[in-house]
Amino acid sequence: MFEKVLIANRGEVALRIHRACREMGIHTVAVHSTADADAMHVRLADEAVCIGPPPATDSYLNIPAILSAAEITNADAIHPGYGFLSENARFADIVRAHDITFIGPTPEHIRLMGDKIAAKEAAIKLGIPVVPGSDGPVGNEAEAKRVATEIGYPVLIKATAGGGGRGMKVAQSEDKLLEALSMARSEAGKAFGNDQVYMEKYLSTPRHIEVQVLGDSQGHVIHLGERECSIQRRHQKVLEESPSPALNATEREHIGGIVTRAMTKLGYLGAGTVEFLYEDGKFYFIEMNTRVQVEHPITEAVTGIDIVREQIRIASGAPLGYEQKDVTFHGHAIECRINAEDPKTFAPSPGRVTDYHPPGGLGVRVDSALYAGYSVPPYYDSLIAKLVVHGPTRNECLMRLRRALEEFVIGGIDTTIDLHRRLVSNVDFVNGAYDVHWLERSMATWR
Ligand code: ADP
Repeated sequence: MFEKVLIANRGEVALRIHRACREMGIHTVAVHSTADADAMHVRLADEAVCIGPPPATDSYLNIPAILSAAEITNADAIHPGYGFLSENARFADIVRAHDITFIGPTPEHIRLMGDKIAAKEAAIKLGIPVVPGSDGPVGNEAEAKRVATEIGYPVLIKATAGGGGRGMKVAQSEDKLLEALSMARSEAGKAFGNDQVYMEKYLSTPRHIEVQVLGDSQGHVIHLGERECSIQRRHQKVLEESPSPALNATEREHIGGIVTRAMTKLGYLGAGTVEFLYEDGKFYFIEMNTRVQVEHPITEAVTGIDIVREQIRIASGAPLGYEQKDVTFHGHAIECRINAEDPKTFAPSPGRVTDYHPPGGLGVRVDSALYAGYSVPPYYDSLIAKLVVHGPTRNECLMRLRRALEEFVIGGIDTTIDLHRRLVSNVDFVNGAYDVHWLERSMATWR
């Protein structure tokens, strides 16, 4: 097992990884920008190294600075968390070249899944059903028109290098196609430095359902069931639950089996998530994330399996601690992503946290790096806390979640706690009657 792990991240996920390491007797090294000198991840780690000025490109994305930090502290592994360098294959290559273990999949698999067209082609070969769409990138306008006519309107133009819901445009009809194409291209070019796009059938009422997998270096792969992430705003997840209110046990086993067989064939290593759209009883692959996800705690709540601990064990060469038959599902879990944002306009709301009182009690987990007196810096993602609630049934989970949201106090800055309070009392949400477009449609009628 590793003696020292460098955590190449910040915020709640850096704490999450630190906690897993601590429980395994592993020393931790935090890295931080000058803006994060007072951050909780820096305070809790055994050692800390400043890697640059506030902008992420100069610090949390600064590969030479992170590697130097690993070398001077003698870290034997690096955990990238999510975001930042977690899906950067070149970073994984460089870490490996320095004889340091990258806690994650192989650079080859990160590269394969990071290119959405290559990922979709791989999915087809591995027997995973995909959304109907273009074979590869769409080149000129004539080709775009031909493909759109073939799959039928509405169509969705997506960036090959996409992520975070950016570079996606819908065209309802042929007269809107060229505009959507050029808008998607320019957004993708600006966001990812790559303006290649492809096309998919735009599903009108899909649910987003994803399957968590773990694979070890001995070739064993298991799945940990699904997460439903259809509560979204601008294609970004707001709240997640497990199990999905839309699936029955047969469907769960069916999709879990498809993903497990595919990842076994691929020889996938580490934690990963295969994301699907689900409509009319059918699953369609959209992408695979080759890292731990923000919403992993709901899976931990219903399975009792510590996903970050398994990531670390797998990277050290240890076999999975579980076989598929050991994975059993208990109760229901929901995660609310709490952002430092205005709950109506969603404009970022950084600043000093004057009061901080997280909820507690049975079945309540809060993953957050906040404390009273802390200043949320304006430079990074606005996620400041994850409230994860577990209960024996969905109904009891919802009752507990409402209670926990009532207790939650974050003073001094605007947060999305109020949005969640409204959401979890909404009749459609309570009935599980929602799809990926529901939240935006519903919010338009709130006052
Ligand atoms: P990103 O990597 O940017 O997050 P994804 O491919 O994972 O992009 O899609 C994010 C979200 O966008 C999905 O959860 C869904 O809400 C929406 N979406 C993606 N593809 C389609 C599609 N073909 N039809 C309808 N909605 C889609």
